[in-house]
Amino acid sequence: MHYDELAVAGVRALHPYQPGMPIAELERRYGIRNAIKLASNENPLGPGSLALAAARQALADCARYPEGSGYLLCARLANRHGVASDAITLGNGSNDVLDMIARVFLGPGVEAVYSQYAFAVYPIAVQAVGATARVAPAHDGSRGPAYGHDLAAMRSLVGPLTRVVFIANPNNPTGTWLGEQELHDFVTGLPDHVVVVVDEAYFEYVTAADYPDTPRWLADCPNLIVTRTFSKAYGLASLRAGYAVSAPEIAQLLNRVRHPFNVNSIAQAAALAALDDVAHLEKSLRLNREGMEQLTSGFRRLGLNFIDSVGNFVVLDLGEAAAGMHEQLLRQGVIVRPIANYGMPNHLRVTVGLPGENARFLEALEQVLA
Ligand code: PMP
Repeated sequence: MHYDELAVAGVRALHPYQPGMPIAELERRYGIRNAIKLASNENPLGPGSLALAAARQALADCARYPEGSGYLLCARLANRHGVASDAITLGNGSNDVLDMIARVFLGPGVEAVYSQYAFAVYPIAVQAVGATARVAPAHDGSRGPAYGHDLAAMRSLVGPLTRVVFIANPNNPTGTWLGEQELHDFVTGLPDHVVVVVDEAYFEYVTAADYPDTPRWLADCPNLIVTRTFSKAYGLASLRAGYAVSAPEIAQLLNRVRHPFNVNSIAQAAALAALDDVAHLEKSLRLNREGMEQLTSGFRRLGLNFIDSVGNFVVLDLGEAAAGMHEQLLRQGVIVRPIANYGMPNHLRVTVGLPGENARFLEALEQVLA
């Protein structure tokens, strides 16, 4: 039996998500030590001490199922966003919420719209449920930032069969972003039968003055879903905690497909404590600003092009196939992210690390270029 033939059509055509290479795997593969990983947009400082202490404490009770409703965390997030608790849907990372959205609103015969170069989980979530993806060409640089979402192009793909539009703001891997006016006009201009997901995994890092606080729009935009995560600026990637803010009516639908206990008690406790640790968040954001400056000034010095990014990562344009460079960096113990799977074979994505890690990456890059 060829089980591939038994799989549903969407799954047969799928390619699994390709994560950044773990440090342990690189060290096993090349027999090297002290490798650094700048490949998965993680917080190089790790979690704050409050989150870690809360996680340790929660661990003692891990024989019990977690509180499935995530009562305290939902209440806290609701308070932060000025919405009711029943507007929050917790996810096993924000990926889980994106998947729930696809399972609720998409299926064979209907469509989702997203941009070229948009985050790789959108095509996976859409195809897995048998829906059709309509991919809008990104900006070419003439009317908006090159590689960024072109909202006019996305709008022109919205039709009677569209059920979901995915927008990453800022987008991974490109680091490009959309301002308040442009995005608000887009969201409010969509027909009623379309749900719009604004994925804000990197929200905390963005300092641009006209970057929107989208949960405030919910009162007037019943079709909006905003997703956020504790994986990036809060440094809790491995615990898997993310969430959606939406109208309660949408949250109720998402909850129908949410797996029981999808956010474990350790993650819930750590996320709650992380929200209190403003000092750690600020330290993380400062480190990121300084690290981004360190990396981009290094790129300028080396005469390398890059895409301006407001996240905790930046994409280098090598002007030629980047696979060889990626491999040479690996051999030097530096893991970055090739993004050929996004249709960007000449580019490498680098996560902002600690100052020493950024310096080591720039040194390795310089050597490899020479
Ligand atoms: N959205 C974007 C744009 C991302 O880059 C990521 C992480 N790679 C996610 C969502 C999902 O992250 P998590 O599931 O860890 O919250």
